[in-house]
Amino acid sequence: MTRTVYVNGEYLPETEAKVSIFDRGFLMADGVYEVTTVLDGKLIDFDGHAKRLARSLNELEMKHPVTEEELLAIHRKLVEVNEVEEGLVYLQVTRGAADRDFAYPKDAEPTLVLFTQKKQAVNSPAAKTGISVISLPDIRWGRRDIKTVQLLYPSMGKMAAKAQGADDAWLVEDGFVTEGTSNNAYIVKDGVIITRNLGNEILHGITRAAVLRFAAEAQIKIEERPFTIEEAKAADEAFVTSATTFVLPVTKIDGEAVGTGQVGPIAARLREIYLEESRKTAV
Ligand code: PLP
Repeated sequence: MTRTVYVNGEYLPETEAKVSIFDRGFLMADGVYEVTTVLDGKLIDFDGHAKRLARSLNELEMKHPVTEEELLAIHRKLVEVNEVEEGLVYLQVTRGAADRDFAYPKDAEPTLVLFTQKKQAVNSPAAKTGISVISLPDIRWGRRDIKTVQLLYPSMGKMAAKAQGADDAWLVEDGFVTEGTSNNAYIVKDGVIITRNLGNEILHGITRAAVLRFAAEAQIKIEERPFTIEEAKAADEAFVTSATTFVLPVTKIDGEAVGTGQVGPIAARLREIYLEESRKTAV
């Protein structure tokens, strides 16, 4: 079935959707994005993703193409017409098409594109076995709090992990883990969850915010601070969070088992709580 996608106010078959070759997203990665998960045909954490999108746009002095209400309506319509029960909605805003120039154009209209992807996420086998990660230097730019489409280094990181027979990479800067290629990173030691504090160095994960809130409600202690790969290897558990993977256990780092090498109880419990609670507030 051909998907229906959204481009600048129009719902079109995916084969007919077009964006200009002068679009600054294409020429300069001058764009931001969001990925919202769909479960039971409903959007998970929509409000958080919409707020973070607004923040990314503001940080880059980019125009907001539509209001938050309009954005929700577009998401809902795409989920409905494409009959997505489980999957995601991808959204991208760029500064729009203009003659190539490093300076921001004055009169360009932003480009807004959304499409859906069906994907089984809840019953992922990796949730039962855990994933393996390798460590890599974090050589991304310094404003990782802005969710831009500059994703080449994270892609290279995933490929480096695959080349070593691992699933993903944890990025390390000045001796400390920042985050995963496309997720936030956590360890658990003596019942305490440790995860990098917010700043420009990491993306402020929407799933991170929800999971830390649920952990606090479940009386689990949290320390928001940097940690090293050595500390992670000596931890009892490790896991990552993202909109599309929820809470995913990490059982191996650079070839060494974390804790027992099995999925840990805190990661497993947080995954359950996250799925249960976020389904309740899905829209
Ligand atoms: N960190 C990075 C670099 C990411 O790309 C992502 C998601 O794409 C995350 C963290 C997790 O963010 P969220 O929970 O909002 O999906």
